[in-house]
Amino acid sequence: MTRLDTTHDPALRSWVESANDPATDFPIQSLPFGRFRLAGSLQAWRVGVAIGDQILDLTQAAELAGAWTDAERERLAPLAHGDLKAFMALGPIARRAVRAQLSQALREDSPLQTALAGCLVAQSQAVMGMPCDVGDYTDFYTSIHHATAVGKLFRPDNPLLPNYKYVPIGYHGRSSSLQVSGIGFHRPQGQLKGDAPEPRFAPTARLDHELELGALIGAGNEQGEPIAMANAEQHLFGLVLLNDWTARDIQPWEYQPLGPFLSKNFATTLSPWVVTMDALAPFRVHFQRPAGDPAPLPYLDSAANREQGAIAITLEVWLQTAGMRERGEAAVRLMQSNFRDAYWTLAQLVAHHTSNGCNLRPGDLLGTGTQSGPEPGQGGSLHELTQGGKQTIALPGGETRTYLQDGDTVILRAFCEGDGHRRIGFGDCAATVLPARAP
Ligand code: CA
Repeated sequence: MTRLDTTHDPALRSWVESANDPATDFPIQSLPFGRFRLAGSLQAWRVGVAIGDQILDLTQAAELAGAWTDAERERLAPLAHGDLKAFMALGPIARRAVRAQLSQALREDSPLQTALAGCLVAQSQAVMGMPCDVGDYTDFYTSIHHATAVGKLFRPDNPLLPNYKYVPIGYHGRSSSLQVSGIGFHRPQGQLKGDAPEPRFAPTARLDHELELGALIGAGNEQGEPIAMANAEQHLFGLVLLNDWTARDIQPWEYQPLGPFLSKNFATTLSPWVVTMDALAPFRVHFQRPAGDPAPLPYLDSAANREQGAIAITLEVWLQTAGMRERGEAAVRLMQSNFRDAYWTLAQLVAHHTSNGCNLRPGDLLGTGTQSGPEPGQGGSLHELTQGGKQTIALPGGETRTYLQDGDTVILRAFCEGDGHRRIGFGDCAATVLPARAP
């Protein structure tokens, strides 16, 4: 599954100078796809590729006379029409061909530099949309550290349920309330009970974030035809950051016996740039369970998955309160974890999801579940970092938090680096909590 080629060469430089900045999230080795339009315009969404602080507009680029061979122009056609999902559905061979083509075109000394320079849009001048319309959204629970920490708050003596090491636990989420980074949402109201004899209906007082990755499906499968582990990676297009906002006081009262519902489905924020599985190839790592744990059942196991099924992605949560913003203080980092510590791989999620014949479709979204690390302080939610609201977090300027306040902006960030490879990042996944609507 790891296919390194010339597009991953850490020595590659782009004629887009900002892409050569060591701190950029979007060097030429990454080339993530997203949908954008010019700020203030009513343009239809266009597909672009992030390069440094710019976007290569693929609608304009595809139209350049004499720039491409017929085959190259044909490959760009679905992208030129602004239809990222149609391109995602084509699968990894088409995706890799376009990646190689764009890598060549954006390299230093490319003969296309002069022509393509006119197809750049500054990211600061663009508004980003959802990468595609998501049909179905499933959220998993792949971090055993998160499952254990949250389980401890409910059941101190028996935190992990017996199915956890056998079943990649998940539930069907709701795609209608997915929204792209930068869009705020109102504090939801719901039934809160706590220890009171009766529930009351009120704004949540325990609003929380969840640090997750989202995998977007490329090619789908026919209903009734499971995807085997050997083919599972072929169905993954790429990853975004995902914040599964959660109302912790609505959740415990509503979740039994059918699982998460209104505590989750009021808003879920995605980062706009899809980092392709190809860009992540240099960061594939061993997938190994702790000694003594049961091996995955055969339909969730493969040698390739053991060798390189996991991905080393550093994940972070940052917070900026309204007060910090007013005082000109930068966001502060609350925690850091790594996706390599997940208990299930993306391939296992695809194989399990389809194992009963369930069909995945292009543009479907699989959330990884909150990614918490093994150490205290690596909780991917405030619920974990504050022990269920019992410990406060001290912020610069003297503020404290247990759960989120109105005006708080939560920013998820992620990056891959190391082993001599060029660092790549995901861009921000940010949103601000707005006050509850008046009843
Ligand atoms: Ca979640």
